[in-house]
Amino acid sequence: MMGASKNFPLQGLDAFFHSLQDRLEGAGFHPALSLSGPFGVGKKTLAYSLARGFLCATPGKLGGCGTCPSCRDVDRGMSVDLLVLERPVGKRNIPVKMVRELLGSMQIASQGDHGKVALLLGAEALGIEGQNSLLKGLEEPEGGNRWILTTTRPEALLPTVRSRVQQLQIPLLPLSAVKESLVSLRGILPADADFLAELSGGSMGKAYWVLDHFGSDWKSLLLPLKECCEPDRSRGPDLAIALEEILQKVPIEGGASEKRSFLDALFQLLTEILRQMGRFEACDRVLEARELLSRSIPLTPVLRKLAVDLSMNPDLNG
Ligand SMILES: [Zn+2]
Repeated sequence: MMGASKNFPLQGLDAFFHSLQDRLEGAGFHPALSLSGPFGVGKKTLAYSLARGFLCATPGKLGGCGTCPSCRDVDRGMSVDLLVLERPVGKRNIPVKMVRELLGSMQIASQGDHGKVALLLGAEALGIEGQNSLLKGLEEPEGGNRWILTTTRPEALLPTVRSRVQQLQIPLLPLSAVKESLVSLRGILPADADFLAELSGGSMGKAYWVLDHFGSDWKSLLLPLKECCEPDRSRGPDLAIALEEILQKVPIEGGASEKRSFLDALFQLLTEILRQMGRFEACDRVLEARELLSRSIPLTPVLRKLAVDLSMNPDLNG
């Protein structure tokens, strides 16, 4: 066992790890995996852990042995058999050229005895063309090669991609566990921790993301969002204005793409608030807005449309 409890953000997921270890010792994993779950749930940590185990000199152990040269190389980011691809900073998508280069590199023989592992982090940033380029690699991994995709939006992957991968969904934690961690590890007041645990939807990393990005103002910045989500809100702040205010107040490093990524994370927080309120129709509207966000549509109309969609309140009328 790799000590998941020490491995933030995967704390509390020991049962899930045991089930993966059982699968590793039993039927094993498909050579192409897709790890999904909301942001902060631990997809990247798990992807690296799986990769380390696949490449380890002693196979069959989730997370690897941690001490062999292969495991050490993975930890230092020096493994020649581990190829990592993600959206470059400042780019909307992962360029197709980079996908093709990755496919080419995967065809060169591995240095170790266990093939190569390609990690594709944030696979929703692959365009259609990028996904199509990937198909052949996913279908016929050669020489013991493996693919691991991570995504917050599995629905953004083409059916042809989804059918070629084994999908693993990382489970969410009970909100009480998130709350407990926030109180004991981050010194958050219990009443505030309740609200933040709700926002996290069971993703520990999401709660920590809020604290890291919003600082001590997190509550005053995010409470208006909650008010905007109330089903009956003839008064109160306008959602589009509340979101724009957050965008102005919270420093976001990078360019326009980073701003969209930040907003995508905010939309996921909104989804959690709406889900807690039982507004499942409204959650679907937010999902649509996330889809618009991933395209080249200007932000203002996206925010405006979402504000109107949520104020129409289909959950109560329908
Ligand atoms: Zn090892």
